[in-house]
Amino acid sequence: AELAHRAWSQATRLGAEFMAPQEVVSMCIQDGYKVLTLSDKKEIKARAVVLTTGVSYRVLDAPGLARLSGAGVYYGAARTEARSCSAQPVYIIGGGNSAGQAAMYLSTYASQVFIIIRGDNLAASMSAYLIEQIAQTPNIEIMPRTQMREACGEHSLEAVVIQQEGHEPEKRPARALFIFIGAKPSTEWVCHLAICDPKGYLLTGRDLVTDPRYKTAWKKDREPYLLETCVPGMFAAGDGRAGAMARVASAVGEGSMAIKFVHQYLDE
Ligand SMILES: Cc1cc2nc3c(=O)[nH]c(=O)nc-3n(C[C@H](O)[C@H](O)[C@H](O)COP(=O)(O)OP(=O)(O)OC[C@H]3O[C@@H](n4cnc5c(N)ncnc54)[C@H](O)[C@@H]3O)c2cc1C
Repeated sequence: AELAHRAWSQATRLGAEFMAPQEVVSMCIQDGYKVLTLSDKKEIKARAVVLTTGVSYRVLDAPGLARLSGAGVYYGAARTEARSCSAQPVYIIGGGNSAGQAAMYLSTYASQVFIIIRGDNLAASMSAYLIEQIAQTPNIEIMPRTQMREACGEHSLEAVVIQQEGHEPEKRPARALFIFIGAKPSTEWVCHLAICDPKGYLLTGRDLVTDPRYKTAWKKDREPYLLETCVPGMFAAGDGRAGAMARVASAVGEGSMAIKFVHQYLDE
């Protein structure tokens, strides 16, 4: 809270104005200006906008998970935590491609990776190439028809209690638990203007340039800046951006980069 307060004071001192609580419900472009409509119907006109609306995660509900979130229990990205799992057992919940990719990555660090799924197998939810890679990786084990019952540990995760259908709950040591049960970018209100990937994440910079829709959408005679969307002067940073790392540090870093690009854009 103190850090947030200091950030707020510094930004206010430098001229930023906070409007909270407020929700942006729509945006349109008029004469090169971005016109934002707020939930109370007020409008704001801006030459440049940085979208940092993040994602909404589905949260798993079991004892201990909320308390140990960030201390061994993680939603989303596994990459930044992988090194701390060296030679120790880790658990993944979820049967989608992001869970599969995380399992492959973690298997190079962890002693054993357990993928917990409610169904019989991964066929309905994961790409065939990932299923094949997982099958060929000796330290990944799929645990079908299994549910997470509890996360245990005093200051950080030490064990998980899992239960396979028809069996008693079982407590097992765990260094980390990665939860991949779905996240949705909060970009619905802006997707009609920007180019998004099939899940709704905003494409920026190099990812944008390689998209087939780029050539017709981009009208400037320069290439988009690294964090610029297909609308010149509309930038994206943090979890809502395609390819983001889903971490606080990277979101904050991208935010400050985006502001530098805003200045470059305003100087054009
Ligand atoms: C349970 C959980 C635990 C996590 N633990 C860690 C961790 O330990 N370490 C770590 O590095 N990362 C962790 N993460 C990931 C981290 O929280 C994100 O990577 C980071 O917060 C992304 O920042 P962001 O600014 O992109 O989005 P967010 O932090 O999600 O912020 C987006 C903001 O935009 C607001 N917003 C959305 N739509 C609108 C709109 N239309 N109008 C106005 N406002 C809007 C939202 O209300 C929110 O306040 C965790 C995430 C979860 C869900």
